[in-house]
Amino acid sequence: MEVSIAQSAKLLDGASRIVLTTHVHPDGDALGSLLALYSFLILEGKNVRMILDDEVPRAFKFLEGWEKIEKPGTLVETVDLLVVLDASDAERIGEVKKAIKAPILNLDHHISNVKFADYWFVDSQAAATGEIIFKLFKTVKAKVTDKMAEALFTAIATDCGFFRYANTSAQTLSFAAELVELGAKPQLISEQLDTKPRIVMEMLPRVIETLEILEFGQSGNIASIVLEREVIAALKDDTDGFINYPRNIDGVEIAIMFKEVDANCVRVSLRSRTVDVSKLALSFGGGGHARAAGCTVNEPLANAKAVIFKAAREYMAKGLS
Ligand code: 5GP
Ligand code: MN
Ligand code: MN
Repeated sequence: MEVSIAQSAKLLDGASRIVLTTHVHPDGDALGSLLALYSFLILEGKNVRMILDDEVPRAFKFLEGWEKIEKPGTLVETVDLLVVLDASDAERIGEVKKAIKAPILNLDHHISNVKFADYWFVDSQAAATGEIIFKLFKTVKAKVTDKMAEALFTAIATDCGFFRYANTSAQTLSFAAELVELGAKPQLISEQLDTKPRIVMEMLPRVIETLEILEFGQSGNIASIVLEREVIAALKDDTDGFINYPRNIDGVEIAIMFKEVDANCVRVSLRSRTVDVSKLALSFGGGGHARAAGCTVNEPLANAKAVIFKAAREYMAKGLS
């Protein structure tokens, strides 16, 4: 059932045992939204826990409360409400789906959302789930602490490329301004996110070496990079900025990053200038936004590249002609 923000707040208010979760491979929006909502519910005196079927990436460990995030257990637990943040389908939360028995409230902003929850609020105009959480706080007149503001600013800023992507709206900017007034420090947050271990820079030549550009003239080019297994092992989870190298090349319409997870599994990140790559991702069982989406292909790297290139090329030809 579709719900409003006010109804979402009522559902939270009516539950006493609550579990919050978000998507695997969590990003700034996933973790910032999770931690901000957790802080609010703790202040409300709720019995609330955060459960995530993945590790917290190093880059986000400056956010207060990350160490309270638990892994799903093996025993099934029953609670009053499971809140799923920033995830557009049930697979995105991994084992949490099996470990927690409860009605699901899904707060999300993905255009590809499949409405899998019992209750959902999906606003694809929101640049980040963080915007939705901030609206919820405004609706209930929550006291937003400086740490909650920091988490929400991180959520919003990371999902809109620090206010540069097409999803950046007037609301995005005004929410960001309010969050700064509430104590978020943009300079400190971006410094935390931009500072990387030396190995990340040292791996850059090996990543750039894999750059391929497929030229299609008028309809725009496709550019890709590959993170091989060895490179991923060295980078650990610091793989975020690499997609920007193919993306920022003149004449590129679709940028693709292939991450070789193992011999038969490749994670694919898609970025575009104008075409809706969420549909492309959806056709491979993934999802996302119009200009940023992803999927997983269970094939060796060479096959994965071939099928994705073919689909992207056909998609571009169809979408733009
Ligand atoms: P990224 O390329 O940064 O991993 O993901 C870009 C966007 O697509 C994010 O909003 C992310 O949530 C979404 N996305 C990435 N991979 C998947 C996937 O496998 N399934 C779904 N539903 N969404 C994905
Ligand atoms: Mn996300
Ligand atoms: Mn998001």
